[in-house]
Amino acid sequence: MKQTTLAKAINIMGVGLHTGVDVNMTLKPAPENTGYIFVRTDLDNFEIPASVEYISHCSYATTLMRRGVVLSTCEHLLSALRGSGVDNCFIELDSIEIPIMDGSSEDFIELITKAGVVKQDADVRVFKVLERVEFEQGDRKMSIEPAENYEIDCIIDFPHPFIERQTLHFVFKNGSFGREIASARTFGFTHEIEMLRKANLALGGSLDNAIVLTADGMLNETPLRFDDEFVRHKILDIIGDFALLGMPIQGKITAEKSGHSVHASLMSKLLKAEHAWEIVTDDT
Ligand SMILES: [Zn+2]
Repeated sequence: MKQTTLAKAINIMGVGLHTGVDVNMTLKPAPENTGYIFVRTDLDNFEIPASVEYISHCSYATTLMRRGVVLSTCEHLLSALRGSGVDNCFIELDSIEIPIMDGSSEDFIELITKAGVVKQDADVRVFKVLERVEFEQGDRKMSIEPAENYEIDCIIDFPHPFIERQTLHFVFKNGSFGREIASARTFGFTHEIEMLRKANLALGGSLDNAIVLTADGMLNETPLRFDDEFVRHKILDIIGDFALLGMPIQGKITAEKSGHSVHASLMSKLLKAEHAWEIVTDDT
């Protein structure tokens, strides 16, 4: 298996979910072993690699920071890149936050597919899990353990008639991300959104880029894309956050009521447990 990058650059315009600021973003081909690097074109092309070491905070979205320069809400784009099998990419943007698009990864996937993905000379490096590592915080639990493929078992539980308890087992293999996960949208509750707005967050949020749930229904007039769109979006977020490990994963993640901060905690615990993983070259 060879590493890949984009066949050509992709321009994307959109709005940041939390900042509400318009942003121009360009995804560009990158050399072998680059991984994903964010480039702030508004700040002298300052680079922030997509890496666990730069996770700054992750209450409502995953935010990276390097030397005080911030890059927010990176998870849906990283999920699309990992999900399309792109290993190396520069992500140039002229603002602080990745555009939210329709709240899923679908637009990114379509644009990447249209631009094309090309093979490079170097073999793919894989993050192979050798021992189980887990993280718990109250009733939130997450673990990663050895497996043949990249698999995710996810459980969510929200006291809402559209959600309740949803479970899904996802196996990452050719095209499954695009079919099963990519179009699942982010969601929020009306009471939560009022709170976020008071904190100057979710300023770009609308019914065009999120499922907005009321006490017993939803504000959106268009239907859900899947009956279990909510757990599918949670898997989308997990794939995006775990892309910060910098390479494809061989291992099984089990997540129960997880969120961005639990994902970050498990990743840093995993990286510290050096006996629990190794980086292997896929020369098949
Ligand atoms: Zn999300």
